[in-house]
Amino acid sequence: MHDVVIVGAGPVGLFLACELGLAGCSVLVLERAPEGRSPWKADPLGMRGLSAASVEAFYRRGMLDPLLTASGVDDDPGTDLDTDEPSPPRGVSHFAGMMLDPAQVDVTALPFRLPGPAMEGVMTSLEAVETVLSERASELGVEVRRGVTVSAVAQDGESVVVQAGGHEYGARWLVGCDGGRSAVRGLAGFEFVGTEPQFTGYVMLAAVADPEKLRPGFHLTPTGMYLRTPAEEYIGMLEFDGGAFDRSQRPTREHLQAVLRRVSGTDVTLTDVRLASSFTDRAMQTTTYRQGRVLLAGDSAHIHSPLGAQGLNLGLGDAVNLGWKLAATVHGHASEGLLDSYTRERLPIGAEVLDWTRAQAAAMRPDPHAQAIQGVLRDLLGTRDGTTYVFKRTSGSSNRYDLGSEHPLVGRNSPDLRLEDGTRLGDLMRDGRGVALDFSLDRSLRRSAMGWESRMRYVGGPARNDLGLGAVLVRPDGTVAWAGDRDPDRKAFEQVAGHWFGAPQI
Ligand SMILES: Cc1cc2nc3c(=O)[nH]c(=O)nc-3n(C[C@H](O)[C@H](O)[C@H](O)COP(=O)(O)OP(=O)(O)OC[C@H]3O[C@@H](n4cnc5c(N)ncnc54)[C@H](O)[C@@H]3O)c2cc1C
Repeated sequence: MHDVVIVGAGPVGLFLACELGLAGCSVLVLERAPEGRSPWKADPLGMRGLSAASVEAFYRRGMLDPLLTASGVDDDPGTDLDTDEPSPPRGVSHFAGMMLDPAQVDVTALPFRLPGPAMEGVMTSLEAVETVLSERASELGVEVRRGVTVSAVAQDGESVVVQAGGHEYGARWLVGCDGGRSAVRGLAGFEFVGTEPQFTGYVMLAAVADPEKLRPGFHLTPTGMYLRTPAEEYIGMLEFDGGAFDRSQRPTREHLQAVLRRVSGTDVTLTDVRLASSFTDRAMQTTTYRQGRVLLAGDSAHIHSPLGAQGLNLGLGDAVNLGWKLAATVHGHASEGLLDSYTRERLPIGAEVLDWTRAQAAAMRPDPHAQAIQGVLRDLLGTRDGTTYVFKRTSGSSNRYDLGSEHPLVGRNSPDLRLEDGTRLGDLMRDGRGVALDFSLDRSLRRSAMGWESRMRYVGGPARNDLGLGAVLVRPDGTVAWAGDRDPDRKAFEQVAGHWFGAPQI
């Protein structure tokens, strides 16, 4: 019997498998697709924008260089890492099709930003992400079994049994990372609620007879939206049809051409459609991410439109949050309620993303009311505050878990704090343990931290830039659990360490 069976070797399942493998759990991943490669995962159809928060998750586990190499991105962080001055981001993306100017982001308004190797989002592909994660998973002893479709799930108080491809697999825990049409979600009886679609979206690789009729770039039109990248014949479009297109069908060339003509307001002609698929803005989320011994992460727990490029980032955030908690539960040293904090922390973040996509769909509707809203939004997004607000929401920097502390850093993703000798927090997190960084003069937390050595690394030393802190306790997922002043309160530190890491061993 495995400690954990994960259903789905997409990016979320693989990231979670790496986290669990790193923590010493035995992990089996069951994947329906016989092959990892597919044109849907390669550039350009598989292109995905990773947020800075997601890139940081790779950095903290020592996978940043492989990710950049696989993504064909040079490793120039675009900012001077030797300063402690925050620099503006290079990319901000769009809101409801309205492009934003990165130079407008007010970096002084971003909470606790310090330069680090993972400051920026990265344009990558599903193929690149999955290749990096598959290689790491295999190094960590994770078994990925392909060509098996999970069709039944049963659980009792001790274990879970999964049926797939005529075999039964037993595990202590099961995690469904099997995407938007998750079988695990239905089989384990999760409730899935939300809103019905307003539009059907399409992406395709197609040849156009008269390309001059379609302007390159992203265009909101009075009837919808289209997007064209000239070099690669990649076309995306949205039509506000109430989600009427029958998505069990592959869209035909005739249908795609008719939609493109309507949304572009031209008589453009598609001569050849090599690949095409559709999606909608149906926005649904499960009401919990755990039912007994079955958990969900990624698209299996939440679906929404790709507007704002957030689904993969949201799912990776789930995996990072869940991995160490599930591993502690498997090893029997989880504190009371640790596993349930996964739903408590991640469900509200997911709900915010769903609303972010709903807001964009509402603003993009081809009707006079939405067009009036677009005018207001254009004005707001043209301001420094407006651009900064969108950047905070889409980069993950506005995310904060409610951990019951009023300290403004607690519950946030930790900045990449650096010791005077150049060591960065991100470098200290590779083994998946939490980190206690103690900048106080008398290293007063050293003794307290000894009790949790196998779960938390203690590092004391003068900080390069301590942001006014005397010490911080960072969870394995990079979230600040506790922040102390220059004379840190040992008792408070021990209480928080016990809350997240269980009883001390000595
Ligand atoms: C056009 C488009 C553009 C997008 N752009 C972005 C972007 O820029 N940024 C971003 O963050 N997100 C983006 N997304 C969303 C992102 O692609 C998804 O959120 C992400 O891929 C979800 O990952 P996942 O691992 O949860 O699920 P998936 O990637 O769907 O993986 C699920 C895996 O489970 C397997 N599986 C399914 N059922 C079974 C079963 N019964 N048994 C065994 N295996 C099974 C599947 O074969 C698959 O390999 C975009 C989506 C679309 C459609």
